Amino acid sequence: MANLLWLQGGACSGNTMSFLNAEEPSACDLVTDFGINVLWHPSLGMELGENLQKMMRALVSGQMPLDIFVFEGSVVKAPNGTGQWNRFAGRPMMDWVRELANVAAYTVAVGDCATWGGIPATAPNPSESVGLQFLKRGHGGFLGKDYKSKAGLPVINIPGCPAHPDWITQIVVAVATGRGGDLSLDEFQRPKTFFQSFTQTGCTRNMHFAYKVSATEFGQRKGCLFYDLGCRGPMTHSPCNRILWNRQSSKTRAGMPCMGCTEPEFPFYDLAPGTVFKTQTVMGVPKDMPLGVDKTGYVKLTAAAKVASPKWAEEDIFVV
Ligand code: SF4
Repeated sequence: MANLLWLQGGACSGNTMSFLNAEEPSACDLVTDFGINVLWHPSLGMELGENLQKMMRALVSGQMPLDIFVFEGSVVKAPNGTGQWNRFAGRPMMDWVRELANVAAYTVAVGDCATWGGIPATAPNPSESVGLQFLKRGHGGFLGKDYKSKAGLPVINIPGCPAHPDWITQIVVAVATGRGGDLSLDEFQRPKTFFQSFTQTGCTRNMHFAYKVSATEFGQRKGCLFYDLGCRGPMTHSPCNRILWNRQSSKTRAGMPCMGCTEPEFPFYDLAPGTVFKTQTVMGVPKDMPLGVDKTGYVKLTAAAKVASPKWAEEDIFVV
């Protein structure tokens, strides 16, 4: 039986909501099929007051083993590095986080705020928020770049705003069943099994991307959302078009641009006015290129694609 503790720092509970909607496996399956003992969770935990403090003390002292420490939300260090703005069980949450991370076999950061700081860490960052082991692209974060959990792994980062429910439960099952050592992580400590491919992989608009046919409104069924509406699908690592949301769809399938929420810089351009859902360009060339494409190559490729674009690419091919 693996003990799991889930705590929440500077968070909106979005990842908790996502987790509770998991299907393959579900949050219930974790307990009934995989023998995971959920010690406490912000929406499921039963212990309160003195009992909760007692359990927390038993965990940090090593009296009670902590197999999986899941953290959602940013680590809040305000005001002035004291962490007093975010207290839990009688003391600053950041003090618990430090001590729990030292005794946990695995530490898992769920969602953008826990991984890179996310929206709370957006400038001017009044909550002095950081992620567990990163602040945006900077390695270190709250626990420092050399941190390793008892099992010898750095923080396992499952980003997203929120993370897809199945990414969370499948990684929890992997570590609970002793397969944590098989996890291959990328340079941002994301499991490669989910974050090696791009949001664009499997997008139904790839033909329109190739022929440079643009969607100009949300929800439009034809056209690619990259050229005008700021879609970040070609440079965002996520399986959103491989592991669909609610088993049905994804943002780009529904006509909404990918906002790149699994990348450390999210929210891009610090949400400055005019930067959301709008492709940023210089002389008509996007500032942010599909990964691996240079600006000269892009100009040549899109000019040729536009000329070669067939008539059907401008039509709504989903109408019968
Ligand atoms: S840019 Fe966005 S909408 Fe266009 S094909 Fe890629 S993921 Fe799909």
